[in-house]
Amino acid sequence: MLIKSPIVAALFVFLCSSADAAQDVALNLDEIHERAKVTERWQPEPEVVIPGEQGRPPSDAIVLFDGDDLDQWVAASGGAPSWRVEDGALTVLPRSGDILTREHFGDVQLHIEWRTPAEVKGEGQGRGNSGVFLMERYEVQVLDSFDNPTYANGQAASVYKQHIPLANASRAPGQWQTYDIIFMAPRISSNGSLLHPATVTVLHNGVLVQNHAVIAGQTVYVGAPGYEAHGEAPLRLQDHGNPVSYRNIWVRRL
Ligand code: MG
Repeated sequence: MLIKSPIVAALFVFLCSSADAAQDVALNLDEIHERAKVTERWQPEPEVVIPGEQGRPPSDAIVLFDGDDLDQWVAASGGAPSWRVEDGALTVLPRSGDILTREHFGDVQLHIEWRTPAEVKGEGQGRGNSGVFLMERYEVQVLDSFDNPTYANGQAASVYKQHIPLANASRAPGQWQTYDIIFMAPRISSNGSLLHPATVTVLHNGVLVQNHAVIAGQTVYVGAPGYEAHGEAPLRLQDHGNPVSYRNIWVRRL
């Protein structure tokens, strides 16, 4: 019998009719507590991380965009990105190309907020399309999927053309939305063979939409996905020709 509560233990002792029985119970409890220690682990002690207030990054996060500038980013075509920064947000400048972080990453926890245009234009894949590419290659789709039918493995929060989201948690056009992403990089051996595919878990506006989804390779528009050997790589945001905005972007290395 495992007695965890001291009150229950005291009551049990009280109910024992003899002093000897009470002593036996006390001895048994001491023995139980000693045995319980066998499965306690005190090391390693987790590092202290101060959580962010009101959606701000935690103390150990690498802040990639805090509303001021694009110092952490470059244009995919080289040079400084020409996406617009105003009112604490950065917005795709259509047809200027994708942007990449200067820093390269592997396994990460990523927080990113995005907003599709309030004025609805286009339909399907042409409405509020952008994308968050982990390691430049693996896209979690950004799309206005609020009452906007398209192929399900290409709607918001899909792993593009690979995994349909578990729910459509989209907010209306013009509203800020969040992705919280846990991404584990693929493990590829030095001879190029795949040891372990990448996996991704995604919360869209706090709703679980990808649950440790196994990524089959680069998320391509045409054809089957596949892996190529690569090391750590930048985070890439997609210019798909629509003025989608982003803010409050941070990562934690895992
Ligand atoms: Mg996209």
